[in-house]
Amino acid sequence: MHVFPGLTLSRSPLGFSRLGPEFLTELPPEPAPAPHWVAHSEACAQRLGLGSDWRTPQALELLSGNGGESGWASVYSGHQFGVWAGQLGDGRALHVGEIEHQGQRYELQLKGAGRTPYSRMGDGRAVLRSSIREFLCSEAMAALAIPTTRALCITGSPLRVRREEIETAAIVTRVAPSFLRFGHFEHFAHHDLLPQLAQLFEHVLDRHAPECREAEVPAAALLEKVSRQTASLMADWQAVGFMHGVMNTDNMSLLGLTLDYGPFGFMDGFDPGHICNHSDHQGRYAYARQPNVAFWNLHALAQALIPLVPGEPEKASEPLLAALESYREAFPREMLGRLRAKLGLLAELPQDRELADDWLKLLAAGRTDFTIAWRHLARFDSQVEAENAAIRDLFLDREAFDAWARRYRERLLAEASLDAERGARMNRVNPAVVLRNHLAEGAIRSASEGDFGEIERLLKVLERPYDEPVLASDAALPPDWAAQLEVSCSS
Ligand code: AMP
Ligand code: MG
Repeated sequence: MHVFPGLTLSRSPLGFSRLGPEFLTELPPEPAPAPHWVAHSEACAQRLGLGSDWRTPQALELLSGNGGESGWASVYSGHQFGVWAGQLGDGRALHVGEIEHQGQRYELQLKGAGRTPYSRMGDGRAVLRSSIREFLCSEAMAALAIPTTRALCITGSPLRVRREEIETAAIVTRVAPSFLRFGHFEHFAHHDLLPQLAQLFEHVLDRHAPECREAEVPAAALLEKVSRQTASLMADWQAVGFMHGVMNTDNMSLLGLTLDYGPFGFMDGFDPGHICNHSDHQGRYAYARQPNVAFWNLHALAQALIPLVPGEPEKASEPLLAALESYREAFPREMLGRLRAKLGLLAELPQDRELADDWLKLLAAGRTDFTIAWRHLARFDSQVEAENAAIRDLFLDREAFDAWARRYRERLLAEASLDAERGARMNRVNPAVVLRNHLAEGAIRSASEGDFGEIERLLKVLERPYDEPVLASDAALPPDWAAQLEVSCSS
């Protein structure tokens, strides 16, 4: 299928689409009438090796589901909010092919391209509002060097979609080496489809983890690989204050990517218990719980891998449980590494964890803005007489800050840290700008009035998250009206 000038979307012989009807359904997208471009990411286009002329009228039609050619939707299952949810699947995402560039293969998926056999009660569509959020956050996370699915573009259509209100439809072209989820393995294990489970396993090894074949127990080696990647991802999320909002096992990537952007959020005033998803009444996916939830989800994956362990069934869980232990080692190590970098520390001293934790407690006590506080800390003056007023003023309890600052100063002294160098280093890991809800909301409001300029402007800012933005408001505290914003699973 030719979508882009001179570029064919292919299906490789090793691709998931070759696995057959137990794994996926072939079907064309449902057309979205009268499409228009809403936004695109040049950075993502470059990643795919697309030329500057890729946004042709033909590409617009095809990426809006009007090509008439077949795509495929995959089946998976999963645990949602801790409960087995049964069969799910790509209910509104259709794979349209693959592109290979510089030795890396990418799948392209149209999210919001209409109903599939896995749509259940849904309409197969995505609204413009949620598509803008997914597009911007995918590209923002990539710019923060956090593993994520990418977003090439959004196309819009006047097609009306019913949510709480009537909205218009949009389609996000998502890009990733694979959109496989923990729930893909869970699906075949739960339904006792063991030949298919083995087939999926072979596919994953071939395509994404060939080194695991050499291991004594390849299934355990794969689980360890996924555990380590997930641990690293959780540390990345926690370090920038990102909350996914719906960490169900069907939203957990087997490649350790941030996947399925819905009611996500970035921390404003620091509250470890913050729940970004308005539909998450119990706070299962609250900020501080994310690392443990990921571990819980890895257990669900381990359970699904049991039939793939050779030997006596009673002993099958042993190597898998051992593989899961790698998460317990990797997450705290990764997290401490992120915190040290955020504090600008180069040496590794035993007191670092406590120093970082006490800084976070300080932020939590006064609900100090997470992003602003970390960013300000880069300007810390380590001289004894320095008051550090700009940082100190972020806290209600100034004495508590002073006490912490004395410890930080001593710690910096212990490695002969140079203020200017450290500050520059910290500004490369503590972003000035993250996609706060109100920033996304500004772009959404303009777009709903037909003006897509704010999406483009914001994308440019988010692509350089460590630079001080031209508009100071992009890096400032959220305005008062932001407190009223609610994001939920409805999208
Ligand atoms: P989520 O938690 O949003 O990633 O979605 C959970 C499941 O619901 C997945 O199988 C989705 O494909 C499906 N889904 C969500 N929204 C829709 C929709 N509007 N139409 C069809 N399926 C949907
Ligand atoms: Mg999902």
